[in-house]
Amino acid sequence: MGRTALVTGANRGIGLEVCRQLARAGLDVVLGARDPAAGAEAAASLAAEGLRVRPQVLDVASDASVESCAGRLRAEGTEVDVLVNNAGVYPEGTVLSAAWEDFRLAVEVNFLGALRTSRAFVPAMVRKGHGRVVNVSSGYGSFAEGLDGPAAYALSKAALNALTVKLASEVPGDVKVNAACPGWVRTRMGGAGATRGVEKGAETIVWLATLPAGGPSGGFFRDRRRIAW
Ligand code: NAP
Repeated sequence: MGRTALVTGANRGIGLEVCRQLARAGLDVVLGARDPAAGAEAAASLAAEGLRVRPQVLDVASDASVESCAGRLRAEGTEVDVLVNNAGVYPEGTVLSAAWEDFRLAVEVNFLGALRTSRAFVPAMVRKGHGRVVNVSSGYGSFAEGLDGPAAYALSKAALNALTVKLASEVPGDVKVNAACPGWVRTRMGGAGATRGVEKGAETIVWLATLPAGGPSGGFFRDRRRIAW
């Protein structure tokens, strides 16, 4: 049986391209989107390219939504072998100026979102002794790169990096957990002036999602090279 990948926040931007590349690599892809219409439209656009992609409603900021998505996949007998925590938000502002709501939003989506989906889907990987988790992070979440960028975003991505290290240390066997920085990518988040297209932005994420048994775990990567936390 083929492997199944679940990509969160995949109705546009880097997530949509990750779905395309994983499906081209032969995986069965579940395209997670919080808006059902946007998810259906995005999945249909990839299906029109002849790719095996189907949508699932998934709001990573909601316990109920993550649980019901996991329940629906279980009910249809789908086991997630690859989890790509891609959904993200980018609130502006400094530690002292940003609105409380923006800190809450960044933490709910960028950090707790990945924690929720990990708790929902990683236990089955551990039982099977095989799985791949890729947390789509950012250089803005790296202490070594100065936690540059807006405060709520940087802090939530630093927490996501910590989750990557901690979860990787807890899971046994061939379950690998890594973080990726896609670089500065032309999406709604990255803006039109960004230096990379989505193909390049998705590349390292897809590489980590399809690592062989001998591959790394608990690392942070950009352009397939390890970077400092
Ligand atoms: P994007 O175009 O803004 O797409 C963000 C995606 O996340 C959208 O599909 C959005 O859905 C989804 N999302 C937001 N909140 C969600 C929630 N609660 N539940 C489920 N999905 C949710 O951004 P992108 O550039 O592709 O970013 C993808 C990832 O790469 C993010 O984690 C981001 O932090 C990271 N990243 C991006 C860059 C860059 O330069 N673009 C650089 C470093 C890291 P809706 O359409 O419903 O809003």
